[in-house]
Amino acid sequence: MDRNAESKPKVAVIGGGAAGFFGAIELASSGSASVTLLEKGKNFLSKVRISGGGRCNVTHHCLDPEPLSRHYPRGERELRWAFETFGPKDTIRWYEERGVLLKTEADGRMFPVTDSSETILEVLFREAKRNGVKLRTETEIHSVTPIPSPEGGSDFRIQLKSGEILEFSKILFATGSGRKAWGWLKALGHSISDPVPSLFTFKISDPRLEDLAGLSFENTLCSLSDLGYAQEGPLLVTHWGLSGPAILKLSAKGARELFEKEYSTFLKVDFVPALSREEIRETIETEKRIHPAKTVRNTPLFGIPKRYWERILESDPGAFTKTWAGFSSKDSHLLIEELKNAKFRISGKGEFKDEFVTCGGVNRKEVQFKTMESRIVPGLFFAGEVLDVDGVTGGFNFQNAWTTSFIAARGILSALQKGQGSG
Ligand SMILES: Cc1cc2nc3c(=O)[nH]c(=O)nc-3n(C[C@H](O)[C@H](O)[C@H](O)COP(=O)(O)OP(=O)(O)OC[C@H]3O[C@@H](n4cnc5c(N)ncnc54)[C@H](O)[C@@H]3O)c2cc1C
Repeated sequence: MDRNAESKPKVAVIGGGAAGFFGAIELASSGSASVTLLEKGKNFLSKVRISGGGRCNVTHHCLDPEPLSRHYPRGERELRWAFETFGPKDTIRWYEERGVLLKTEADGRMFPVTDSSETILEVLFREAKRNGVKLRTETEIHSVTPIPSPEGGSDFRIQLKSGEILEFSKILFATGSGRKAWGWLKALGHSISDPVPSLFTFKISDPRLEDLAGLSFENTLCSLSDLGYAQEGPLLVTHWGLSGPAILKLSAKGARELFEKEYSTFLKVDFVPALSREEIRETIETEKRIHPAKTVRNTPLFGIPKRYWERILESDPGAFTKTWAGFSSKDSHLLIEELKNAKFRISGKGEFKDEFVTCGGVNRKEVQFKTMESRIVPGLFFAGEVLDVDGVTGGFNFQNAWTTSFIAARGILSALQKGQGSG
């Protein structure tokens, strides 16, 4: 029990997810604020528990702020600076100092060595308790009202659904994609970019993909050319269409426009991005010279999996049975088109169970990213997904939560020190 708690300025953190928990710990560990974490649900850290398929992809091994910031379709410019203050290196160190080691997978994603999100939950709970964060679940908030103070700043009154009234010097909003909280923030004068889903797979019904679920391509260039977005990376065929890193990243880039188009547009896939059309043509000509008697369908080229190679040849029954000697220049042209510019009709949005985020939230222009304080209501701070910031899949969304909540905690402590808000 902290005997001085009553004399310390009070800070409320609203939302007990990754950002709220991390921010509350950083605030309380300074010893100069009494921190209450208010969560409307029955449990804290629900998303952390189910994240990364139960393994929690804590961050990404991309340590340089500039390339790291490019993984955020919304928030790149603001996070570029924020990562200088608290980036993946700091996340790794923060967990390591508290006994949690992270490992890096081949694609850069970082997980606890235990491969269990429970490890992350345990350390966050332990740190919150050790630093005296007051944890309250099932605390539905009715309203948040600034109370102007004679010194020019303002304190805040939070009325709970139960009728209880609480007063705080500062508030950290870490409510994720909670619609009600966006409603209050709007009422307080903030503008909110409409929330729409990000990180999803594409529903595609196409004979070329039928019964090929599980088939993957190591490197492709996928583009939504009518929206002006492209993404290179692995591609995976699913029961419903296409997924894999290239698709998920593309869905994040085009999240808003795809929503507006009701997820109906065309996807173009270049299955051989490393080679030009001319280079592919030359390889085909070489094949015709060296293996004239071999059937084309039995000699897949360019690393294309045999089942897909057969599928694209099947679309032209003549070519399907031909040997390389009989493969005409028209056949070559059609094959090259299928390899470099395959067109698929997207008819909807699928699910991606390992990670899901919402794009949209508090307008970034209304937040000072050096402190995460609102430019509209001084004394209100933001962290995590409540902001119009989101990353592609790979641990970037949690990194946003750790980074912005760390900066918000520093911002709040510095504002308290300057005596803004009466406490
Ligand atoms: C299935 C799944 C898997 C994911 N896996 C990964 C992953 O492995 N790596 C990664 O980087 N990202 C992952 N993400 C994304 C990541 O979970 C989020 O970006 C991150 O949790 C955002 O943290 P946050 O604290 O801002 O919001 P949240 O985690 O959503 O927390 C917000 C909290 O605020 C509470 N709240 C909302 N409104 C109120 C209110 N009015 N009063 C009180 N409390 C309120 C909510 O109940 C919630 O507990 C995943 C997401 C999902 C859905």
